[in-house]
Amino acid sequence: MEKKTCDCVVIGSGIGGMCAAAKLAHSGYKTIVIEKLPILGGRYTQIEYKGYKICTAAYMILYGKNDPVYLTLNEVGAPEIETAHTGPMPQTYRMGGKDYEMTGKGALRDMISWASKDKDEENRVMTALKRAMLWYEPPDTITFDDWMLQYADSKTIRNLFQSLVAAWAGANSWEITAGQWFRILKGMTVGGNPIILKNGVKDVIDALEKVITDNHGEILTRTRARRIIVEDGVARGVAAERGGEELQIEAKTVISNAGPKKTIKLGGDHNFDRAYLKEVAERVKPAAGLEFTITSDEPLLDAPSVLFTADTQRLECFVGDCTPDGKHLLRTASVPESTVLYSPMKEYDIFLRDLKETFPDFEKRGGRILLARNFCGDWPFYGTWPGDCLGQKTPVEDLYNVGDAVIPGGWVGGSGAAQSAKVVVEDIKTRVKPA
Ligand SMILES: Cc1cc2nc3c(=O)[nH]c(=O)nc-3n(C[C@H](O)[C@H](O)[C@H](O)COP(=O)(O)OP(=O)(O)OC[C@H]3O[C@@H](n4cnc5c(N)ncnc54)[C@H](O)[C@@H]3O)c2cc1C
Repeated sequence: MEKKTCDCVVIGSGIGGMCAAAKLAHSGYKTIVIEKLPILGGRYTQIEYKGYKICTAAYMILYGKNDPVYLTLNEVGAPEIETAHTGPMPQTYRMGGKDYEMTGKGALRDMISWASKDKDEENRVMTALKRAMLWYEPPDTITFDDWMLQYADSKTIRNLFQSLVAAWAGANSWEITAGQWFRILKGMTVGGNPIILKNGVKDVIDALEKVITDNHGEILTRTRARRIIVEDGVARGVAAERGGEELQIEAKTVISNAGPKKTIKLGGDHNFDRAYLKEVAERVKPAAGLEFTITSDEPLLDAPSVLFTADTQRLECFVGDCTPDGKHLLRTASVPESTVLYSPMKEYDIFLRDLKETFPDFEKRGGRILLARNFCGDWPFYGTWPGDCLGQKTPVEDLYNVGDAVIPGGWVGGSGAAQSAKVVVEDIKTRVKPA
């Protein structure tokens, strides 16, 4: 059996794991990342598919230059990454057949004003939102849609918020609680405009990989964690399998990017507090949904740009993406009516109708669906509904989770996973000295 020793071992190379590892390696901690797949990045990279670069999931740096991913790259001195646009990325909102250009500042008020034909309703909704953001955050006792019903009469306002909730939370406004949504909304208002990268998000993972290896870290692909070694309630390392051989990594700290449920399995549930086991069982519910990659002979949408639409039956947020060789790609996600119970085939038919309604000249422009994917189970939209994540520490000492099931309030997706890495690394720095 091969043995290795380090300060920190990271299980999984998703954006959360890679950000944590880059920060630690950059701060002088001997860090080892193990990844079961042959590629790094998890749901935050690209792969080749039929001559196209396909995202494993994420496309954008959601909060622009305020994004924890972007800030991590700067902090660890990663190589510069080329963006696809110089100014803010163009974003359009379609409502009632009309397109509205969204600007960063005051966008929420503008959207409410476009959606409501009634000034009284607009003021009522704005006042209620402001109060909920700045004074009293509504509790998790009602859904956001029920909360909104107190203030909005028009279906258009509720549709507007449904599409925002679905786009950011990966769940519906009738599923997510008012508290969960306001925690996200607060984050959105301090975040920046999304960024699309010229060569896609793999550049981020490549840059973090370089930082880790330049700072004496090690990254092992095709290496699967089989067990987290726990002694007297303290994590001591990881037993892994690499090429059919056992590898034992002794470490002062273990960070799991495999998701809280797998972390418990790897650590052995007898090592976890009962309250924690109950919390994970009840609160970790992955946000599931469908994603489509579309190609066309002529562009269906300018690239780069985003079109949100409240006119379709499901949320659709269409992203016009860049491809280096002049091919046209459009990516879109669709959140089913129930993220817990749905039929992917039925959702696919609804999506086709939505697609043709949004782009009536789809066929004329040579549009075709390159790939349709159902993100669920271990490979979901989000590890759990944002705004309802667990903390990063586990009851096992020196064992942390990072990733999109343990996002600090207000953040979502890969950005939130990177923020969880920030919280974890700050804690490690107060407890562990580099060797
Ligand atoms: C369609 C879609 C679009 C999205 N768009 C965006 C976007 O534009 N921007 C954004 O920020 N977010 C977006 N997201 C969300 C984002 O992709 C995820 O939130 C984020 O990538 C999750 O990262 P993570 O750190 O949780 O790790 P994950 O991506 O879950 O990676 C975990 C890694 O751990 C590895 N692993 C698991 N078990 C083991 C083991 N036992 N041993 C070794 N390795 C193991 C896995 O192989 C994997 O590589 C999108 C999601 C979807 C589905």
